[in-house]
Amino acid sequence: MGLADLHIHTNYSWDSTCTVSAILKYTAEFTNLNLIAITDHDQITGALEAVQRAPFYGVEVIPGIEITTADGHLIALFVNEIIPAGMSLTKTVLRVGELGGLCIAPHPMAMWACALSEKSIREALKVPGVAEVLVGIEAYNAGLIYRRSNKRATALSRELPLASVGSSDSHMLITLGSGATEFPGGSATDLRRALETRQTQVCINSDRTGLHILVNWAPRMMLRKAGWIAWNEHPSAPIRFSRMKRVLISSQHYLASHS
Ligand SMILES: [Zn+2]
Ligand SMILES: [Zn+2]
Repeated sequence: MGLADLHIHTNYSWDSTCTVSAILKYTAEFTNLNLIAITDHDQITGALEAVQRAPFYGVEVIPGIEITTADGHLIALFVNEIIPAGMSLTKTVLRVGELGGLCIAPHPMAMWACALSEKSIREALKVPGVAEVLVGIEAYNAGLIYRRSNKRATALSRELPLASVGSSDSHMLITLGSGATEFPGGSATDLRRALETRQTQVCINSDRTGLHILVNWAPRMMLRKAGWIAWNEHPSAPIRFSRMKRVLISSQHYLASHS
């Protein structure tokens, strides 16, 4: 089985504190993730840079973007260009489909987040062509301060015909992999197939979920405003990591353990 973190922000997002190279190095050295997606706010530069640099670190990267639609945030995966912000959820999903991508509804209905409502997701799924592209829902987002939002998202994920996804929504290195998605296989192609056939499962790293509370918005923004960015030199040749795997994702399935 593969393990992916499909919601990660680099310093190309206004509110993140880590560079592409730092994310790749940390992922390779300290996590057991096979796959990550870079999903900056309405930006694609970091994702494209990550795809280009990933082979140096032995990490596979899916290019993505977290789009600010008129109805709330939407994750697009497998896209290589910016999808304009501000369009309706339906229009945005259909545009992502034209570009060959897939969509995930991140932190649905979450308090204090620019989140899609249950109604907007249900309505969009009725529009022809949307269900083929909007294939996943974040049943678990480790970055939410208000934890009950995850319970609501999990409940909704059980009702809708969508793949359940877990993500870290990381804006700092130490939270990478705090939420993750397990899928049959290990590659980006396998992940795509698993999303389309709803064969994903949510995993959490129970040791790391509290970290988000400590490093969340206010202190993180103070660090960012002070110019603090985690970074490392991009290597001139591929690095061989002996993985320390300090981040051990719980093998316990979130949905199973919270049912
Ligand atoms: Zn978001
Ligand atoms: Zn995000």
